[in-house]
Amino acid sequence: MIPKDTVPNIIVVGGGPAGLMAAETLAAGGAQVDVFDAMPSVGRKFLLAGKGGLNLTHAEELPDFLRRYGQRQNEISRWIYEMNPLNLRQWARNLGVDTFVGTSGRVFPADMKAAPLLRAWLHRLRAKGVRFHMRHRWTGWQDNALRFSAPNGEVLHTADAVVLALGGASWPQLGSNGAWVDLLAKKGVDIAPLEPSNCGFDVTWSDHFKAHFAGEPLSPVAISYTNESGMPARRLGQFVITEHGIEGSLIYSLSSLFREQIKAHGSTQIHLDLLPDLPLHRAVQHCEHPRGSRSVAGHLQSRLNLRGVKTALLRELCTPETQQNPVLLANAIKALPVTLLSPRPVAEAISTAGGVRLEAMNKELMLKDIPGVFCAGEMLDWEAPTGGYLLTASFASGKVAGKAALNWVARKK
Ligand SMILES: Cc1cc2nc3c(=O)[nH]c(=O)nc-3n(C[C@H](O)[C@H](O)[C@H](O)COP(=O)(O)OP(=O)(O)OC[C@H]3O[C@@H](n4cnc5c(N)ncnc54)[C@H](O)[C@@H]3O)c2cc1C
Repeated sequence: MIPKDTVPNIIVVGGGPAGLMAAETLAAGGAQVDVFDAMPSVGRKFLLAGKGGLNLTHAEELPDFLRRYGQRQNEISRWIYEMNPLNLRQWARNLGVDTFVGTSGRVFPADMKAAPLLRAWLHRLRAKGVRFHMRHRWTGWQDNALRFSAPNGEVLHTADAVVLALGGASWPQLGSNGAWVDLLAKKGVDIAPLEPSNCGFDVTWSDHFKAHFAGEPLSPVAISYTNESGMPARRLGQFVITEHGIEGSLIYSLSSLFREQIKAHGSTQIHLDLLPDLPLHRAVQHCEHPRGSRSVAGHLQSRLNLRGVKTALLRELCTPETQQNPVLLANAIKALPVTLLSPRPVAEAISTAGGVRLEAMNKELMLKDIPGVFCAGEMLDWEAPTGGYLLTASFASGKVAGKAALNWVARKK
């Protein structure tokens, strides 16, 4: 513990999972912690994540877990060393929230919700003396002070150290809008452009198809695509047709690859297998079966149980010649080409790629250009698929930044 007369004051800007974990670490180390957030309450994206079932972390073996962070796995493994998936589950248990491992290995709170966890956490943080300042949007620096736009006008605050945990730019209505990029860039901080991650993609649908099938799920379905090494690959899952194109878990899991392919080539093509359990030769046999007076759609429904949005996709994307030719039609059912034109905007994405480059910070997450300022969470330049990896790395980096800020202040005094 730090002696009372030398208690450092440390500001955390951003009350999401990363900022709150930094605040908890700082308070446990004896600092006076002030958390500032632009919104009327903290943890709004965390609460939203709990709406569909809060996927806190993942129970797979640690080497597999770390591989999910792709090119950044080496750096992120240092954070996860501070707070690994088991530590995170224990942390939740200490807050009175048990967790369980779902069939896919994903870890959820027993009641699937974020609100009880957040409530208990905020209660504990307040009990430890953490002070919260809501509706304070950080707008930059004035000399050495942080400048905030607050309900009664502009206010300035100074601190011995600062942790920025400002999130990415997805779902800006929940507080994280990426406006911090300009503020840090002005100070010379190297920032990779913010981009959508775990996002949907634009596909040109006809007005008729949009009007009738937006919102329809495709399940099961397989996607064939070209992987990072230029090799053919295939993945099974489900996704949803939207007004603009496609989105959903299968698409999200491949979204960073598709985004990069579009960046390199202007668009990318995938192939849908609408009947992933049926071999091609069986599909050909069924399509070649005499259909008498039945329509193509009626024939596909009775022979292959293919109906609804799947039949509509064939009509939407195949030429009339293909639809009338049994062999071509069977091939289209097994490998229907779909062109992805662009990722949906980052504001709609589950998460954000890009951000403060890890090279712009030292290993303790302090900005090289702004000593005493640490960064954590989704505002850093890393990405991961859904599955609890986003929250785990956000929490863990918050802990690293909090610890490092304490050490830095202690060294300075
Ligand atoms: C629909 C949805 C579902 C998700 N589900 C999951 C899931 O199940 N599992 C999972 O691992 N991940 C999930 N995620 C992702 C996860 O919620 C984020 O990765 C995580 O919240 C990032 O934490 P963070 O603290 O870095 O940023 P955030 O949670 O975005 O918090 C940043 C905070 O900073 C504040 N802020 C921003 N700018 C300023 C400013 N200038 N001044 C003051 N305050 C500011 C914001 O108001 C916000 O409170 C989901 C995301 C979405 C959108």
